[in-house]
Amino acid sequence: MKTDIEIAQAAEMLPITQIARELGVSEETLEPYGRTKAKLDLNALRDLPRKAKLILVTAINPTPAGEGKTTTSVGLADALRRLDKKVVLCLREPSLGPVFGVKGGAAGGGYAQVVPMEEINLHFTGDFHAIGAANNLLAAMLDNHIQQGNALDIDVRKITWKRCVDMNDRQLRNIVCGLGGKVNGVPREDGFDITVASEIMAVLCLATSLTDLKARLGRMVVAYTRDDRPVTAHDLKADGAMAALLKDAIKPNLVQTLEHTPAIVHGGPFANIAHGCNSIMATETGLKLGDYVVTEAGFGADLGAEKFLDIKCRAAGFAPSAVVVVATVRALKHHGGVAKAQLNEENLTALETGLPNLLQHVENITQVYGLPCVVAINAFPTDTAAELKLVEDKCRELGVNVALSEVWAKGGEGGIALAEEVVRLCGQPSQFRYCYETDASIEEKLNAIAKRIYHADGVDLTPNAKKQLKQLTDLGYDKLPICMAKTQYSFSDDQTLLGAPKGFRVTVRNLKVSAGAGFIVALTGDIMTMPGLPKVPAAEKIDIDENGVISGLF
Ligand code: ADP
Ligand code: MG
Repeated sequence: MKTDIEIAQAAEMLPITQIARELGVSEETLEPYGRTKAKLDLNALRDLPRKAKLILVTAINPTPAGEGKTTTSVGLADALRRLDKKVVLCLREPSLGPVFGVKGGAAGGGYAQVVPMEEINLHFTGDFHAIGAANNLLAAMLDNHIQQGNALDIDVRKITWKRCVDMNDRQLRNIVCGLGGKVNGVPREDGFDITVASEIMAVLCLATSLTDLKARLGRMVVAYTRDDRPVTAHDLKADGAMAALLKDAIKPNLVQTLEHTPAIVHGGPFANIAHGCNSIMATETGLKLGDYVVTEAGFGADLGAEKFLDIKCRAAGFAPSAVVVVATVRALKHHGGVAKAQLNEENLTALETGLPNLLQHVENITQVYGLPCVVAINAFPTDTAAELKLVEDKCRELGVNVALSEVWAKGGEGGIALAEEVVRLCGQPSQFRYCYETDASIEEKLNAIAKRIYHADGVDLTPNAKKQLKQLTDLGYDKLPICMAKTQYSFSDDQTLLGAPKGFRVTVRNLKVSAGAGFIVALTGDIMTMPGLPKVPAAEKIDIDENGVISGLF
């Protein structure tokens, strides 16, 4: 069997100019970055109406390997194109951290990939570096402000802005900087986040124009004064220069799938402390250019779909037409109590025991959000026919729409049944509504998500979180939507509670505002914003030969 990178390298890519032409993108709108990548000029597209149906691909609570949302999204887009639909795929950009760490790249898998796979996974068009530069410019201006007399009265113990780099580097999580005497800055504790965890990433992905981007950058809170007033990037006069650094990063990137379906790959915020979706501008561009837009949200539907619908769709005014929930036999058996080492063995009993996890996600999409939904069973080579049949039969018995997806093995052809079902659902009436309204109190919003999406009994706030709640409410940040930071492995905040747990409460330990992104982050546990590398990093296997051919990426 060929590896992902071998399949990707064997693919014939069309010139990006040709992909753009077929999409109806004029030459003036296209800014080529080499032969197979390009950026799209948003100004040229500004006055076009949104016309496409928006399809979200989400998943059940995953195993650490990932259940194939990106792979299914790519394959579904290719399948829709085979049905002669004008389709645009919208995905997130991969971060170098996971590429060199455990998880690997994020360009799909098997015969459902976006290409050029190596370039998308490594640097791409430089967007993340630009975000890092903007983030670190702000950090430098903040420390310089303190060095030059601290007119804003910033409390050096209450600086919330960190430096960032797009790498898994635990060594930089906590640092002491500004050492070396008077001319070398003010000594203080600091730390680095991975670039995708920078608020600027979330800001870029939620901005609707360059003007909106600048306004959001200006609103970001970087520190508090000694009397606890927030200090913003605008107070430091950093917003203009940051926006200037981001002038190209804000433009969506156009590439193609293995089957030449246009794909816009743009932005990639964390799915815990941020909302985990590609940029609004990418999705917006897709909605203007295509008739169908397929997009993905990070983690399982309790986090990914919830934030896509309650944060991103609300911010942009998008109303999706259908939702695909990806499930795998592997993850269902995991929810049925099977240990990792036995996941490849047939186990129909465990499979059935794990089904409630899937069914609860489907119920949330249809009942809470009022959206048509279909389950895509992402078929793995290790699945048995009896296992695949069981999931399909059970779904049908319960009246849940379901389609087997074989896009990993067969490309778009393996996704025809799913695509036909999606087209049918897009023709159905939907009554899209949010899980909560933003004018409710922070506590009401937290409870709405916990009770209606997680099926918890309610939310408890630690004394620390209660204090922060009062402070955020006093500062007028309480009308923002909530961005939950929770384990992706369970509906609950305890990753060992599998399936569809009942009779639990969710503990919120920390509340902080991302005022530029425009949400309140609710942390239910320790969330790592600077990952580390594993014992054997994926980077050890990555190489390049004398012809510039890269190997070992996955
Ligand atoms: P997600 O987007 O949900 O994190 P991905 O689509 O990135 O998941 O897939 C995670 C990994 O699993 C990738 O390495 C991909 O190649 C692999 N994968 C996905 N679907 C299949 C499948 N049907 N069979 C085998 N491997 C798969
Ligand atoms: Mg993915």
